[in-house]
Parts: sequence; structure tokens; C-alpha cells
Amino acid sequence: MTTFADPVPGGRPGDLRRVAALTADLSARGVRGIVLGYVDTAGIGRVKTIPTARLEAAVSSGVGMSPVFDTFLAHDSIVTTDVLGSPDGDLRLYPDLDELVALAGQPGWAWAPVDRITQEGARHPGCSRTFLRRIVTDAAERHGLAFKAAIEIEWSVGLGSAPAGEFVPAVSGPAYGATRQIELSDYTADLLAACAAQNVDVDQLHPEYAPGQFEISVGARDPVAAADRSVLVRQTIRAVAQRHGLRVSFAPAVSAEGVGNGGHLHLSCWRDGVNLHAGGEGRYGMTAEAESFAAGVLARLPALTAVTAPSPASYLRLKPSQWAGVFTAWGRETREAALRMITGTAGRHDQDANMEVKPVDLAANPYLALGCVIAAGLDGVTAARTLPDEITGDPARYGPDEAAALGVRRLPQSLSEAVEEFRADPVLRAALGPVLADAVTAVRLGEAAAVDGLGPDRVAAAYRWTY
Ligand code: GLU
Ligand code: MG
Repeated sequence: MTTFADPVPGGRPGDLRRVAALTADLSARGVRGIVLGYVDTAGIGRVKTIPTARLEAAVSSGVGMSPVFDTFLAHDSIVTTDVLGSPDGDLRLYPDLDELVALAGQPGWAWAPVDRITQEGARHPGCSRTFLRRIVTDAAERHGLAFKAAIEIEWSVGLGSAPAGEFVPAVSGPAYGATRQIELSDYTADLLAACAAQNVDVDQLHPEYAPGQFEISVGARDPVAAADRSVLVRQTIRAVAQRHGLRVSFAPAVSAEGVGNGGHLHLSCWRDGVNLHAGGEGRYGMTAEAESFAAGVLARLPALTAVTAPSPASYLRLKPSQWAGVFTAWGRETREAALRMITGTAGRHDQDANMEVKPVDLAANPYLALGCVIAAGLDGVTAARTLPDEITGDPARYGPDEAAALGVRRLPQSLSEAVEEFRADPVLRAALGPVLADAVTAVRLGEAAAVDGLGPDRVAAAYRWTY
């Protein structure tokens, strides 16, 4: 659980009381340094590290880092907005001790996500973790709603010895195939051990469809903690792979053709400990509120795509008939609809029912993605939206008239198209606030311009090892 308290100069309430014991424990376990991490607007994890003995200083007064990373592109060139992207100013990174963990895949290191605040102690409007916490706190205060979320992780495992820049799958054999599981037996066992040591409850791990692809799914948590966990699990997958001579990619499309790496987002709304996606009067047990929430997300998917699929490479993945969910439609357990409703098995509906948002990949900043999806859902609740008819099967089979009659639209097919949708969406813009909304727009436009004129193979190659 995250505390939902913003840091202030002097730390989060209560942190200084426990930092000495925490530091002693980390030191006794051989932890020499702590990685302080956050995710920038482009979806890149950025870090500073401190020696373990500096944890108390970091907790009480933060660690300095320029705000310029809010407008960095994935390959480190810099764009600007009215207020971001200048060489001036500094921010303080405050580690969240609730999420601090010794890294099992990187002996000698611990990791903690940070919130960024100004030197004067105010919330930094460009901090995506602070943004998500604000959305979740507002949902609790205004609607009495809480959420459980989980982000699936698909990744491509390649040989570390492959020629520079190239992806050579580390396994052979079919999707979900036993051969792949055997070939990476030691790596995946070490990965499970590392997750367990870090208190990450893994639901499943399996060989996926694309060459060298695997997937891990983990237990649901509150949205901020779920986003933190997505970052931690990816850090772990990469670190353990490296120790096995493997190289991993979370890029939406390691190759221009074929199935990509998704980061499907699972989400459920709860009130007073009751899952609103089960036991209701609506379709598949949804309560009216859960249905309105889902309808709010469905209505804004074209604009959300700029946040959930933020890379030029994301649009190599977002193709029909590859289970990436590229049509604005919903259905029960329908893997080609952007929204897949999951009821869970008999006897567990009240715990397991949730919705899965599929057009999300791991180039996305998970805090921005969750915050924007929740904001869209809450707008649906406020407007008492209702869901259209569900679909079954693959919407790719519909002709234009049938699709229009059903209200089924193809999601944006390029980053530029997605940004146009995003810019025209007042709800997402208002939720993010002007500073973050402008940063998203500027970074996406910059990223699109960076690959202007490149064909699909070169786009895939450009981002293959970025995420
Ligand atoms: N790899 C697919 C994607 O890009 C998802 C496959 C699945 O449903 O697990 O979203
Ligand atoms: Mg999958």
C-alpha cells in the first residue's frame, strides 16, 4: 500500500522515524546503494542513485534533479513547452519508503520510486506519480471509489551475444510451447525467485506468441502501487536476464512485422470493499457505476491512445487481429476488443471481476496511463454513461457501414493521429493539468517528428532497445 501522502520538505509524515532502522537493515543485507527512479513523459525510466547511508538525507530533503526530463524524448533530445524544457531550475526527488525494496536481481542495490517536488516544497505539476495519486485521492473524496489495478508485462528475450542492435530470440519453438519454458528454465526460475524476494506476487509466467516473447502477470494493487510494481518488475526482468547473458526488450514492436509486446492494464472499481464489477444488475454482473466507468474509458480510447501507446513503435503493434485490441468495442473475454470484460470463474466473481484495457504498451508511463484511464472512467461515472452493445469475434471483419452502425472505430494508426485526438479531449487535458498535458503533447509531437519519413523496419530498429 502507498500512504497517499505527498512528500514535503522534511519527508513524508513518519518517514524519519523509520529510516534509521531501514538503513541498518539494508546495510546488514549488503545493500550499498539505492536507485531512486521515476518515469518521464516519454515513458523512459530515469534514475539517480545514492549510497545507502544517504537514505536519511534523501528522505528529509530529497535529491536534486533537473525538471528538464519532463520534456526529454526517448532518445534524449529535448523539446520545450511554455514552462518545461529549459536548463533552469531544480527539483527534489523524495523516495517512497513504503515501496523501497532490496533488488534481488541486482545484489548490492535497493530501489524506491520517487515523487518530485519543488525546492520550495510544492507539488511538481510534471510529476506523473503525484498526478496519479491526486486522481486516486480525488476519486475517493468525490466519488467514494477505490481501484485495484495490475499491468501485464510482455517482453522479448534475445541473446546477449547477438550482433549490435539486432534481436536474436533466445528460444525456439511454438507460442506457449513447452520447449521455450525448458530452454529458459534457469532464467525464469531465477526471475520467480527474485519476484518472491521482493514481495511481488506473481500470478502467471508463460512463453507468449512472438519469437522470444514471454509474459508475466502479477497481483492487483492500488493504482500507484500497481504502477510502481510495473517499473520494479521490469527492472527485475532486465537485471536477471543480464545475469544469464540475455538481453530483453519491452518495446511495443521489436520487429515491424508480427505480434508486439503489450502492457494490458487491468482495473476494477471498488466501494467500501465491494467490487463494483460483480453482483450488479447490469450485464455480466456489472453495477451501473462500473458500466458507466467502462463506458467513460471506451468513449475516450482514441485520445487515451496518445498516453497508453506513446511511441512511434506503438503503432507497429496496434494492428487488427493480433490481440492488441485496436477497435473501440467491448466484449466478455473478447481479445480483439479494446475493452475485455473479465468476470472471473464461478465463486470468485466478487474478487476477480475487472476490465482489461488492451491498447496499452510498455512504452507508456504507467502513472500517466493509469491516471488518464481512471479520469476517463470517472467522467463516465459523472455523466452516467452506458455501454453500447457488446461485440463478439474480431471487429476487423466488419465492413465500414456495419462498424459505423455498431459505433466501432479503429483506434489511431499513428502517433500524430493519436496526439490530435488527445489535444481535442478536454477531460484528459483537465485531469492532467496544463503542465503535464502540454508536456504530453510536446513530447509526442517531438517523437513523431523524430521518425518522420522512416519506414516501419527503421522505426522498429530505432526503439528496439529503448524500452
Ligand atoms: N501480444 C499481444 C499485444 O500486443 C497480447 C497477447 C495477449 O492477449 O496476451 O497486446
Ligand atoms: Mg499476452
